[in-house]
Parts: sequence; structure tokens; C-alpha cells
Amino acid sequence: MGRMKQSKLFTKTRKDAPKDEVSKNAQLLLRAGYVHKEMAGVYSYLPLGFKVLKNIEAIVRDEMNMLGGQEGILSSLQDPDIWKKTGRWDGEADEVWLKTKLANDSELGLAFSHEEPWARVLSEHVSSYRDLPLYTYHFAPKFRNELRAKSGLMRGREFLMKDLYSFTKNEDDLNTFYEDVRVAYENIFRRVGIGNNTYFTYSSGGIFSKWSHEFQCVSDAGEDTIYIDTEKRIAINKEIYTDEVIQETGLEKDRLIEAKAIEVGNIFKLGTKYAEALGLTYKDEEGNENPVVMGSYGIGIGRLLGTVAEILSDEKGIVWPESIAPFKYHLVELSGGDEAVKERADALYQQMVERGIEVLYDDRDAHAGEKFADSDLMGIPYRIVVGKNSVGGVLEVVRRSTGETLSMSYDEVLGS
Ligand code: ATP
Ligand code: MG
Repeated sequence: MGRMKQSKLFTKTRKDAPKDEVSKNAQLLLRAGYVHKEMAGVYSYLPLGFKVLKNIEAIVRDEMNMLGGQEGILSSLQDPDIWKKTGRWDGEADEVWLKTKLANDSELGLAFSHEEPWARVLSEHVSSYRDLPLYTYHFAPKFRNELRAKSGLMRGREFLMKDLYSFTKNEDDLNTFYEDVRVAYENIFRRVGIGNNTYFTYSSGGIFSKWSHEFQCVSDAGEDTIYIDTEKRIAINKEIYTDEVIQETGLEKDRLIEAKAIEVGNIFKLGTKYAEALGLTYKDEEGNENPVVMGSYGIGIGRLLGTVAEILSDEKGIVWPESIAPFKYHLVELSGGDEAVKERADALYQQMVERGIEVLYDDRDAHAGEKFADSDLMGIPYRIVVGKNSVGGVLEVVRRSTGETLSMSYDEVLGS
């Protein structure tokens, strides 16, 4: 969908969001026709939303591939056996699972994460130190029995996650890769447009590692509280805001600023827990069998989309960065029944299509006010208006983010 006539787009905008929808990101995305709400915490993506999702996915995939990640996709239906081996079928993870049963009464899980399945897959393919390190990832749905689902796309009971897993011989190799992932994550958040608001944040670790790290995007809609050092661009999650972390990070308490934030991603050193439980081992140079050291690295793709909609919007609607917008241009025809104007707009659309330019063409028979309101709500980065007053040769292009008008020649637009 590099181009589209709005008269053919099946989704319609709406003035009001459903009454039960309290979060801004979901209100805007619902009103603009990007998503459909199935029930609390469950959203479907419609053509415009799907396009944004795919654009985010492409950026994340690009960064994962640069890390040497190998993409697959593991199943959503989960075999209880492997989760029992790690102690995550019952017990601590029990609250989060959505479980179901086959006709013969045997239990299945709906994936809430994928450490166990990936570890089992790898146990069938890794045998020697020569096979390591390796990195696998996928974009796969996750199902979680979340208690509260009041944050719109930022907290779903079904949501798309990119999860990357690292398999290394030892801790040193894990630490090296972990730092590479940190950089890749910073690239991702910059590329999707929230780099300035997003902080590398110390968070609770596990048995293996004292800390894990989150990428927290500052927003009043966030569910987390963090303490930020704006100069060093590092933060600490309230969960672990103790003397120890202050000492270790070298940050000074009375400079730190408290803020609400959205966890858009996290990175975690897992150690050998999963490998040991699932028999994922390799033979080292001396012929000794060792457990593989793992790390996991998640980004909620739907949450990221919701976060961008939430923090980059204004009172008129969404403001997509060009990198993930569903279209680059919103071509708005305001002919008011004047055939010559309509023909000019049609011709421009045709030329843009021929050049492969991403454009949504508002060719609907509607008033200017309605077209502009819809256009602002949808948040496409550049709006071109072709109306009675348009002068030949020059196009007035309005930048959605700032409202400024740029005069561009046909060649400039068609060459972009
Ligand atoms: P949270 O503390 O927000 O519940 P989490 O610690 O459970 O997050 P992980 O299990 O590590 O998160 O998942 C990795 C990433 O997936 C998170 O950083 C976040 O971006 C995303 N994510 C987690 N839960 C959800 C959810 N319910 N809806 C959408 N995205 C989510
Ligand atoms: Mg959670």
C-alpha cells in the first residue's frame, strides 16, 4: 500500500473514541481508523495501522540483522513440558499464562515469552563451541493475562513482540553482545522518532545478573517511575531505587529527576538457567560439556507504535515521524466541484503513483474542514492541497509536525 485513494479506504474516521477507552494512544488510533478494539487489551490492526506496524518492524528487523540475528518464527501454542522443566509452567508465571486444552484434555499454553522454545530448538542444532555465538529472533504474538489493560496499545493481553535471544559460550561474549544490542536499541528508538525521550534505565536483574536494563520513554501515560540523569542519559527504575544502584552507576541522587515513563524495550542477561534445564550444551575446545549462556532482548512492537502515537500527537491528532508514517504525503483535493481542479489533482496523484511516492489521496467529495480535520487526525507528515487557488507550477506543502507551509515545485515533490 504505497498509495491509496481515500474514497476506497474502508476505514472511516470518527469524532469520538469509544467511551470505555481511556488512553490517549488508543483513542487517537481508533478515531483515525488505524486499529479496531476487540475487547479490553486486545486490538486488531487495520490497513493504516498495519502499515505503521510494518514500518516499525522493518526498522527493528534491519537493526537485528545488523547484529547478526537470524530470523524465524516460533509457534504461539506452547508445549507445557519445556516450561515445566524451567519451573515456569506453574508458580511465578502462572498469573500471566493464558492456557487452553486440546480435545483429549491435555494442556497447552499460549506463548507469553519464548525463552524455553528457542532454547529447545537450539539444543537440537548446537553441539560444539564452533556453533557459537549465535543470535535468533522473531516477531511473534504474545499472550498475557495482564491485570490492568488501561493503557491502550501500550499494554495488551495479546501483542506483537520482537524478541531476540543470544547464545554464547561464556559471560564475556554475552557482555560484548549485550553492549551491541544496547546500541542497536538506541538506533531503533532514534529511528522511530522517540530517541530524545528515551533513557537507558537500570532495572532489577535476576539470579544471574544484578541488573537488567530497560529503555524507558518519558511520558505521563507511562506506568513506570524512573529517576533520570539527563546529562548522562541514564535512568534508574523506582523498583530498584536503592543506595546500591546509585553507587554502582556513579549517579548523584539530588540531580536525578523523577518522571513517569513507558518501558519500550528491555535487555536481560539470563545466564545458564534455561540451557541447564533444557539440555542446551556445547563441547568446548577441551571436549568438556558446558551449558550455553543466554540473553534475551525484547521490544513490544505494538507498545512502541502506541508510544509514538501517544507522545508525538497534538490536540488535532497523531503526528507520525516520516520513518514510520503510513504514507509520506497526504494529497488533498479541494475542487469544490470544479472539474479542472479535480483533473489537476488526479494528474498529480497519477504522477506520484508512477514514481512510487507514498501517497494517500483524499479524493472524497467532502468539505475542506472535514478533509483537514481528518488529515490532521491521521498525522501523515506532508499535506499537499490542490484547490482553486493553487497557482500553477507551485505546490503548497504543509508539514504536519510544525504546521509550516513549504512552497515546493512539482519536480521537488515528484523527485522526493
Ligand atoms: P511490563 O513491566 O511493562 O509489564 P515486562 O517486564 O513484562 O513489561 P517483558 O516481558 O520483558 O516486559 O517484555 C519485553 C517487552 O515487551 C517490554 O519491554 C515491552 O516493550 C513489551 N511488553 C510487555 N508487556 C506488554 C504488553 N502487555 N503489551 C504490549 N507490550 C508489552
Ligand atoms: Mg509484564
